[in-house]
Amino acid sequence: MSAVRKARTQEGGAPATAAPFAIAVENIVKRYGAFEAVKGITFEVKDGEIFGLLGPNGAGKSTLIRMMTTLMPVTAGRALVAGHDVTKEPNAVRNMIGVIPQALTSDQDLTVYENLLIYAKLYSVPKEKREKNIAAVLEAVDLTKWRGAQTKTLSGGMRRRLEIARGLVHDPRIFFLDEPTTGLDPVSRIAVWEMLNNLKKTRNLTMLLTTHYMEEADRLCDRIAIVDHGTLVALGTPVELKQSVPGSNVVEVQFARESDDWKARLEALTDVTEVQSQSAGVYRVLTSNGSQTTTQLVEMASRLGEQLSSLSVQNTSLDDVFVHYTGRQLRDEQVKAVFQMPPRPGVNA
Ligand code: ADP
Repeated sequence: MSAVRKARTQEGGAPATAAPFAIAVENIVKRYGAFEAVKGITFEVKDGEIFGLLGPNGAGKSTLIRMMTTLMPVTAGRALVAGHDVTKEPNAVRNMIGVIPQALTSDQDLTVYENLLIYAKLYSVPKEKREKNIAAVLEAVDLTKWRGAQTKTLSGGMRRRLEIARGLVHDPRIFFLDEPTTGLDPVSRIAVWEMLNNLKKTRNLTMLLTTHYMEEADRLCDRIAIVDHGTLVALGTPVELKQSVPGSNVVEVQFARESDDWKARLEALTDVTEVQSQSAGVYRVLTSNGSQTTTQLVEMASRLGEQLSSLSVQNTSLDDVFVHYTGRQLRDEQVKAVFQMPPRPGVNA
């Protein structure tokens, strides 16, 4: 079985040890009045990893991040950040973390440099270190040449990068980012991903981010915790999570010639769990091993001298993972690889 683990709940959970982890959350609960927004979640974040909390709006991700960053009291359970209890030692926690909230909060009327300077002072960065730190974070987010620009003249992507620089100016060890690319266009989003990856490598940071973008979680995170309705439904690396979903690869094939035999022939291929007949000559083949089934299918057609009009392999996505663990779709985006088969000589299309 895969390394994916399901949530440990209050009843079943063994206490985590804090020491080896950047963050250790144990059976944490948040109630807003009678409403339980976070229902006893347990996970650990290792030093130096990018850890993602993935879930739909309202899942409880921001509430979790607010508790871990001392912005909101914990109702029950505990969270240790850099070994410090967020309830008992909030100041020690605050010294170790950088927080990027969802909303853009840098002052529009100040320059990029002034925004960073205010934060450096706020976090008591010693005077002799301030200029060096500001220069380093500007370089890290590729805003050095915009240092003197008024913040209101920056694009959305650049402002997001400024917020990230601001969160780093006091050299935190652990970085919390709430929906870091929400509202950005696809190009700026990819730029932010690359930047965060670089930061992780060059500054030896641990990052915890929340997202409802599956692609973001998939491309950026070392491990992902899927959160839904205030509970943790699965946790693992993107690959482990996808491998934990049985029979979820879909191969869609269209034969140039319709035949009554195709369904049975497809069903006989290794790892195929189901064959659905679509329109004439078109089949959806559910398999636990997409690449092997595709290879066998192409070999079978070749052996029989038959032509495939098209063949598409749909990879297991985090959406499939979400559906598997929650019974619902996170969103309708799918990862699709489409291969158009070239016609073979002597066979009519
Ligand atoms: P997410 O970040 O995953 O979108 P949130 O943590 O913001 O989710 O919200 C989780 C749930 O808690 C939602 O149902 C939300 O409406 C509720 N909630 C969030 N903040 C408050 C609050 N201050 N008072 C009452 N309910 C809240």
